[in-house]
Amino acid sequence: MNLKKILLIATGGTIASRHTENGLSPQITGKELLSYIPEGKEFCRIDVLQPFSLDSTNVCWQQWLTLAKIIQEHYQQYDGFVICHGTDTMAYTAAALSYLIRNSLKPIAVTGAQRPIDLPDTDARTNLMDSVRFVSDDRAHDVCIVFGGLVIAGTRAKKERTKSYNAFSSINYPPVAVIQDRRIIFYIDDKDSCTGEVCFSDSLGPRVFLYRMIPGSDGTVLDALMDRYDALIIESFGVGGIPDYGDGSFREAIRKWTAAGRMVVMATQVPNEGSDMSVYEVGHAVKNEYNIPESYDMTLEAVITKTMWILGRTRERDRFRELFYTSINHDLLFLPE
Ligand code: ASP
Repeated sequence: MNLKKILLIATGGTIASRHTENGLSPQITGKELLSYIPEGKEFCRIDVLQPFSLDSTNVCWQQWLTLAKIIQEHYQQYDGFVICHGTDTMAYTAAALSYLIRNSLKPIAVTGAQRPIDLPDTDARTNLMDSVRFVSDDRAHDVCIVFGGLVIAGTRAKKERTKSYNAFSSINYPPVAVIQDRRIIFYIDDKDSCTGEVCFSDSLGPRVFLYRMIPGSDGTVLDALMDRYDALIIESFGVGGIPDYGDGSFREAIRKWTAAGRMVVMATQVPNEGSDMSVYEVGHAVKNEYNIPESYDMTLEAVITKTMWILGRTRERDRFRELFYTSINHDLLFLPE
């Protein structure tokens, strides 16, 4: 049998954590993680890299670029990649990597656990073994999260539970596959239709501000942020609307940001089913007047990281829209007419 070559990239997280007097902290190395899944050797050869060891609370765009660079540098040598990562920001990392590494016929699985791998009662060994099994499968490709028996497209995951083993859900899209016992059952078996060369990006524009609306919010606070950010994502209500409490402060803020050459994007704080600003007058008018892009069925994690990825390439408004509405790694189904 031709054994697959897999690169395991360990980055910390609960999966690699030990109890300390100050709480859980990532201390178990990538090599040690591997020692917990000796059965992996049956069907693949695994090398290990450890670029950093962080609670994923401390992971941001800098680490996303590091991970993309490592995969680019090792792309030819391996058949697949497994990234062990904390769960807290895993959905952001998987979405960011989906934009930084496009059209990858080789699979890149991001995994982790709710409980450390050295505990007798843990989801870590199953998740790690499932990930290794998944990236060794000929049908697997592109960036996915493998967790709790689900394989979720990298742009579609959301951490919905802080403690349970089924922490992640696939939002507005079916899971790519489920893994039961040792069997991988593909729901999206589309590798044959993938075309184009793998494509890596090496820059992001991280100056993105997310503004979560609450009833009674004051739009004038956005004025103070304009100099420090290149894009404003407004996490509004329902299918998307801009409130007016009599002072028109939000419309005025959007006008100023847009006039200053900043990007304004509308998203919704409702996790499922997405936005459609054309439905209500409160959204329709603003969308038409300022021609701002909206999330539609993309997750918030995808919208944020996609915005950073686009800002790393262009500040040009039409090009921003074009890229924002280009479907990447299954992130967007509901395209505007
Ligand atoms: N705080 C941890 C982290 O994100 C949680 C986890 O891994 O489950 O690194």
